[in-house]
Amino acid sequence: MKDRLLRKSVLTVADFPPVRWLFLKYGMRLGVDRFVAAETLPETLDKVRGLNEAGMHVTLDYLGENVLDSGQAEETAAIISGLFPAIQRLGLKANVSVKLTQLGLRMDRDSCLKHMERIVSEAAASRSFVRIDMEDSTVTQETIDVFRLLLRRFGPERIGLVLQSYLYRSEADAVQLGAGGTNLRIVKGAYRESSDVAYPDKRDVDAAYIRIVQAHLIHGGYAAVATHDPEIIDAIIRFSKDTGISRDRYEFQMLYGIAGDLQRDLVRAGYLVRIYTPFGRLWYPYFTRRMAERPANLWFVAKHMLRS
Ligand code: FAD
Repeated sequence: MKDRLLRKSVLTVADFPPVRWLFLKYGMRLGVDRFVAAETLPETLDKVRGLNEAGMHVTLDYLGENVLDSGQAEETAAIISGLFPAIQRLGLKANVSVKLTQLGLRMDRDSCLKHMERIVSEAAASRSFVRIDMEDSTVTQETIDVFRLLLRRFGPERIGLVLQSYLYRSEADAVQLGAGGTNLRIVKGAYRESSDVAYPDKRDVDAAYIRIVQAHLIHGGYAAVATHDPEIIDAIIRFSKDTGISRDRYEFQMLYGIAGDLQRDLVRAGYLVRIYTPFGRLWYPYFTRRMAERPANLWFVAKHMLRS
């Protein structure tokens, strides 16, 4: 309950125009670069190379969401499609994550689907993979609908989805989507949601998380276990050992700039670790969600403010 209140308060304050203005003007100097790789692609690709050299794989996230302009959605689709040849040319171990609202889902589902078809075709040409991030609950069903259409056309080697364990519906969604080796990233969930749709208590979110991953693995799916929670990570490793589920059926995913020691420990122990690496100029909403997850991050930013 406390966590939900904190998240709600931080996300509400972040919506105030003066707070937004301050960050947009001085962002990188205020510590945003701890969580966002860079604003430009060349700098980002350098960071990806560094992560690869440290034994980590990457999923690139070109930042942006809630696009309500068809020209901007088209431009975003072109930029994301262009990531695959760049990744291939440089021989990087990276795939791509996409938010459907950055491709205009809230405006026109059909053209959003067309943009996704272009992006996944480009990924297929490079033998790469695209994952659809999950956004707030107002678009959950449409996101799943678009994912199903793409899954039917391209298969689970090319397209995957995210489910959020805080939503009551996700356990049932995981069962329905799980057949045929579907690739699901499981997260706890990062948006402001009401108790009508999401567990208010963190313990319920954590328990649902473990249930969803375990059931998905048992049903033959591939799981991207995306969390920095050491207890959950231990529970999944123990479960996979006890049930004889091999390491190539799952991977761990963490966010750029968070829990670096845990990332390195898992790489050293021989697990596949993939770092979600956001880049681009539209970092504000992503950044505020990271603040809302952990009070210590506010202190980290305050220290940067005092220094600059
Ligand atoms: P928590 O219980 O919140 O945290 C466990 C521990 O992790 C904390 O005690 C702390 O030590 C550390 N930690 C967690 N968050 C932070 C932080 N911001 N800064 C510093 N330390 C932190 N959410 C969505 O709704 N949709 C998505 O598509 C989505 N994709 C994601 C992809 C990846 C790879 C990851 C890792 C997360 C993604 N999320 C997404 C965010 C997710 O929903 C959670 O909000 C976030 O991961 C924090 O939860 P946690 O699992 O780490 O557990």
